Amino acid sequence: MTPASSIRFDVLTIFPAMFESPFEQSVMARARTAGLIDVQTHDLRQWAHDRHKTVDDAPFGGGAGMVMKPEPIFEAIEAIQPMAEPPAKVVFMSPLGRPLTRALVDELAEIPRMLIICGRYEGIDERVREHIVDIEVSIGDFVVSGGELPAMVVIDAVARRIPGVLGSEASLTEESFDDGLLEYPQYTRPPVYREWEVPPILLSGNHAEVDKWRRRQRLLRTRDLRPDLLEGVEMTPAERKWLAEQE
Ligand code: SAH
Repeated sequence: MTPASSIRFDVLTIFPAMFESPFEQSVMARARTAGLIDVQTHDLRQWAHDRHKTVDDAPFGGGAGMVMKPEPIFEAIEAIQPMAEPPAKVVFMSPLGRPLTRALVDELAEIPRMLIICGRYEGIDERVREHIVDIEVSIGDFVVSGGELPAMVVIDAVARRIPGVLGSEASLTEESFDDGLLEYPQYTRPPVYREWEVPPILLSGNHAEVDKWRRRQRLLRTRDLRPDLLEGVEMTPAERKWLAEQE
């Protein structure tokens, strides 16, 4: 995987204000200040045609709810594309999309510019999906009220893959899903809290033993909590034996 050195996200939404606070704090704020990500929101209503700034209409064929009209979306995308280089891949947040996994996050992190469409109401006119969307992404098998929160999840997860966004490169290589495993248990001071002790090995100062313990805890947790992830994981014969002996 070769992540882009910086990524520009153009976001098309009827609620641009939702994107303010999440990117003004902590890791994402630092990534923006450092020029590693650029998040530009665009209010879809700018491309509405009437004075009420209408972007939705009733569905052909009847039924409940409203559907986002195609004209403002196509015109918005055609106006936003020339605002920067290179041309953006058009991403649509949707429950029909490819499920967001670590593999898909890594794939997206190679794209230097994305234009993310946030759906609202019952969704968007099918012609948008068919004719202008490059990649459709789902954050899981459930429905939320709009594409804004899903877009923020994508931007945050993808930004973390850009070198320099996390404080140290070490935090990039010891997280859940690196080598397909979940994270090991973590502890901080105090060493005893309400009679619950931190595993003594972590206080031993023996780094080799700590590494071994952590690796084995990752294997154990992954087996117990997400056995589906364990299939592709490489293990030494000793690890395999140890794991088989654990309850
Ligand atoms: N009627 C649609 C759901 C519409 S929810 C359906 O049954 O599939 C409104 C918008 O929220 C969607 O257009 C999409 O942009 C966003 N959305 C909802 N759930 C999502 C999910 N799991 N992943 C990504 N986007 C989602």
